[in-house]
Amino acid sequence: MNWKKAELSAGLYLVATPIGNARDITLRALDILASADILSAEDTRSLRRLLEIHGVPLGDRPVLAYHDHNGARMRPRLLAEIEAGRSVAYASEAGTPMISDPGFDLMRAVQEAGFAATSAPGPSAVITALTLAGLPTDRFFFAGFLPNAKSARRKGLAALAGIEATLVFYESPKRLVAMLSDAAEALGDRPAAVCRELTKKFEECRRGSLTSLAQHYADTPPKGEIVVLIGKGDSESFSQSDVDTSLKEALQTMSVRDASDFVSRMYNRPRRPIYQRAMELAKRG
Ligand code: SAM
Repeated sequence: MNWKKAELSAGLYLVATPIGNARDITLRALDILASADILSAEDTRSLRRLLEIHGVPLGDRPVLAYHDHNGARMRPRLLAEIEAGRSVAYASEAGTPMISDPGFDLMRAVQEAGFAATSAPGPSAVITALTLAGLPTDRFFFAGFLPNAKSARRKGLAALAGIEATLVFYESPKRLVAMLSDAAEALGDRPAAVCRELTKKFEECRRGSLTSLAQHYADTPPKGEIVVLIGKGDSESFSQSDVDTSLKEALQTMSVRDASDFVSRMYNRPRRPIYQRAMELAKRG
């Protein structure tokens, strides 16, 4: 028995849970799950299973579902429990609540009501992937899930082109190849990594250029849960404002198309995001 009962004061306790390997749970998370008056979860079955694995007795405590579809209805109920002096532990289906998972509206409502809230940190796929990808970790930008529709996804990628950091995305196996190909087009053929099934039996972290990874997964369709990481482009020695200045100058004498060709060659950058930026600047006059 690794957990111990604790006296919890009234409030919300956000509890991170494993992203694969059930033993990736902190002792404090187990203590909170063993001690809270009320348990709440995005997926009540997963939480019950986790309690079983770790021998945490549920007793007669309720496990209330709280997810995107019932949040508006459940928030007043959970707030009323806290107001009545009870401790509420909330876990999302896996990993850290609020990281591409529910919990944000609940946390905000608790804070706005002036109740206590705390977080029991633990696993998250974004951090686990960063530690394995072999790409710089000094600066990273977590972009969550890109939109499903191709044009919106391309637009989303193009908007990230100027960010000087490792980009991190959650992605589904169905869309991986399309996403990697779109990223190569929008960002250039940057170094990247695909981290799959982290902490599970078939964990894999494959590194390569965006186009080589797209080719690999087109030949070998992936399964399971996936994080995609994309490194910075080769030439990072200029800023977005350098690009803007060059575009503005070029736009004085050239069409949007010619100005973007010219500036993308000048900085050796993919044309698409520069073209989009040129369109914006041209519209603003
Ligand atoms: N809250 C979670 C966290 O802290 O990482 C993320 C939940 S989000 C709904 C689920 C996505 O996270 C998956 O589609 C996948 O992109 C990523 N993910 C979760 N577990 C993973 C794992 N074991 N290996 C790789 N990616 C994972």
